[in-house]
Amino acid sequence: MLGIGRDITGRKQAEAELQQHRLHLEELVASRTVELAQAKEAAETANLAKTAFLANMSHEIRTPMNAILGMAHLLRRAGVTPAQADRLDKIDAASDHLLATINNILDISKIEAGKFVLDDSALTVSSLISNVSSILSERAKDKGLELKTESDSFPTPLRGDPTRLQQAMLNYVANAIKFTEHGTVTLRAFVQEESAESVLARFEVIDTGIGIAPEVQQRIFNAFEQADNSTSRKYGGSGLGLVISKRLAELMGGEAGVESTAGVGSTFWFTVRLRKGQSHEDLTPTPTADAEATLRQDHRGRRILLVDDEQINLEVAQFLLEGSGLVVETAENGFEAIERARETNYAVILMDMQMPKLDGLEATRQIRELPGQRDTPIIAMTANAFAEDRARCLDAGMNDFLIKPFDPEQLFSTLLKHLAT
Ligand code: ADP
Repeated sequence: MLGIGRDITGRKQAEAELQQHRLHLEELVASRTVELAQAKEAAETANLAKTAFLANMSHEIRTPMNAILGMAHLLRRAGVTPAQADRLDKIDAASDHLLATINNILDISKIEAGKFVLDDSALTVSSLISNVSSILSERAKDKGLELKTESDSFPTPLRGDPTRLQQAMLNYVANAIKFTEHGTVTLRAFVQEESAESVLARFEVIDTGIGIAPEVQQRIFNAFEQADNSTSRKYGGSGLGLVISKRLAELMGGEAGVESTAGVGSTFWFTVRLRKGQSHEDLTPTPTADAEATLRQDHRGRRILLVDDEQINLEVAQFLLEGSGLVVETAENGFEAIERARETNYAVILMDMQMPKLDGLEATRQIRELPGQRDTPIIAMTANAFAEDRARCLDAGMNDFLIKPFDPEQLFSTLLKHLAT
């Protein structure tokens, strides 16, 4: 009897202890959950701050780059000696390299933040392949390499993001040329699968270059990684090209990888899914052959309002536009732009986004309210390069979007598109 009583007391004690442990555990879980939620919130805030910082830096770097490239362009047009032309080529090449690096950093940070938006427009695989080939053929030739292309015939029409698909191919082919001293670089495209709605396209870049040891093959697809991470490395580069190509392929419903033998060569590949069918209307104009000459011939004397707070940018753009026969008036902030638009009916308004006093978005909204200004083409010309910047411009009532530094040919063909309608 006594024994049973002791048993019961013992069990009660054990249950009480168990209950206490349970309570303690629950408190622990609750406090950890709060800590986790706080850490998550802090990480998200930090991520937002990083994205805002990068957007700002991009704007701050693009604005002077626009001045450097623009001034180099103006010097060249004014006529230079062959030695000066050679130096201007070097300024161009260095600027392009810097811009490509900025673009890569922006791309990867957008992709990692899950904020990367793909375009949905018409694309032709064979034209993308010939673009890549013509962009890089000079570089291959300079190294004595043969650059070959081979392609299946793809069904048409197809839809996807031509710029990003071309970028992924360019990354691979540029790498293949960079890491190959003798032989051939081949870009191939196949239809890997086809259904009623889509095709899975496979792109391969085969080189006869230095190859990659098996243990580093996976690592090189990570951000900032290079096969050779030493400070004495032979090849420059940011280590972002491959990770961007891989992420782009994944965003486009495919994957990426490499097969390689050190000392023999590599085959880098990726797949992407391309939808069949017509696309929505594309905003970016197909570059018109010699748009500048057409402007001069068909639109001489038409009045353009150029709005920008940066003196050098105004100077570069004004010079280019006047050179193509257009009449240019300028405004240095949103208020001035509205005043000008109230007095004059411009054929086109080129509008910077970020300006003191009143920005380009608000200026556009107010210009749209003015009598007779509902349909005046307003084109953003801005160093804010993100897809959401484009969306904000279009929402504010603008018709098109040019990113600084702009390529003069692109400025002319965009203008032509809007002057012709
Ligand atoms: P980057 O070329 O700017 O360093 P990438 O991400 O494009 O960055 O490439 C990462 C690394 O992968 C390169 O530094 C190089 O070591 C290796 N790699 C890429 N392509 C090739 C290739 N075709 N042959 C040999 N190694 C390559």
